Amino acid sequence: MHPSHQSIPEKPHSLWVNINIATMAGNRAYGQIEDGALAVCGERIAWIGKRCHLPRDLKNNAFHVYDGNQGLMTPGFVDCHTHLVYAGNRAKEFELRLKGASYEDIARQGGGIRSTVRATRQADETSLLKQSAVRLMALMREGVTTVEIKSGYGLDLATELRMLCVVQKLGERYPLTVVPTFLGAHALPPEYEGKSDAYIDFICAEVLPEVAARSLASAVDAFCEGIGFTLDQTRRIFMAAKKLGLAIKLHAEQLSDMGGAALAAQFGALSADHLEYVSEAGVKAMAAGGTTAVLLPGAFYFLREKRVPPIECFRYYQVPMALATDCNPGSSPTVSLLLMLNMACTLFCLTPEEALAGVTRNGARALGLEDVIGTLERGKNADFAIWDVSEPAELAYHIGSNPLKQLVVKGRMIRERRRHAYYW
Ligand SMILES: [Zn+2]
Repeated sequence: MHPSHQSIPEKPHSLWVNINIATMAGNRAYGQIEDGALAVCGERIAWIGKRCHLPRDLKNNAFHVYDGNQGLMTPGFVDCHTHLVYAGNRAKEFELRLKGASYEDIARQGGGIRSTVRATRQADETSLLKQSAVRLMALMREGVTTVEIKSGYGLDLATELRMLCVVQKLGERYPLTVVPTFLGAHALPPEYEGKSDAYIDFICAEVLPEVAARSLASAVDAFCEGIGFTLDQTRRIFMAAKKLGLAIKLHAEQLSDMGGAALAAQFGALSADHLEYVSEAGVKAMAAGGTTAVLLPGAFYFLREKRVPPIECFRYYQVPMALATDCNPGSSPTVSLLLMLNMACTLFCLTPEEALAGVTRNGARALGLEDVIGTLERGKNADFAIWDVSEPAELAYHIGSNPLKQLVVKGRMIRERRRHAYYW
């Protein structure tokens, strides 16, 4: 009972002890702190370091002390590229293809992205919210505390706005941080068949200004590809986005080298994503523009792609590599960021440390949030996960198991596992 009244900090704080911490900051491997401690005041990290260096005041006056049971604490995961708001799924199409149907057969039967567009246009806000929340919670169950979500299955004004409203509601109703991106130029809607320039006009003149006026997106994305939109059309989208003060991201060089990554970098894009076919010139431009490379091994795997992104080149030019699920019904129907850690190592030969940086520090960079989240440092958001593993590489090593023990978002405990029961 000794601490006097005066020595109690102004605001109550919580303390986590008996943990090893992968801060993902600084120069040491994983920024590791053995036998660490972390104090949280409000939504922020108030102190982090070795337990033996913990100031006495913090130790004695903690409102609540949590025992990490020698688990590993990492920053909360950032899934910086998802399309998780959509209706229906494409399992039928998956099955048809494996029974030998061609892409043409499937398109003729109304399959492909257009089937998701049709289902999403038909879904009302409540149904869309319900279906999407299931995926959001699944991400959270594997340590995700920040998620980016794109529109792009509406491709008309009403549905694009409805998708973004659902994204906003997910952010209001669930504890994790949700970052919305407008992806009107995802595909050409059927009513614009053969008129892609007119569709870009429509996006730039009618949809984008409405999205910006309602503050429904912080960034604009496009699908620059032979089967998507041209470099010129992408440039027009970027110019319209810049005028409205929105950040830029791009689906670039997934299936061919269109020069999209370099264009995005010239516009100061936060990220260029996929990048299997990016050239050295593209990578150099990304380095100069401060653009993060977002790698999406789930889509690479699901589409049985052969060409891997030029990892050595990203390393050489020091382009930060982020990693995301690309959660979407057509090419990456996954809600497991842990699986992406494994796939990034097995398919793209990232090191486990690079993979973990991809879903923490560099995931935050890809969203322009590196000052707030992505590493465990004093003053940053108290977003972290505690895992039942003895070393960080285990997070990328295991396949199909989930060692998450505790998840904290902005200082708030989200989940605890006790005797295999789950509490939310
Ligand atoms: Zn995508």
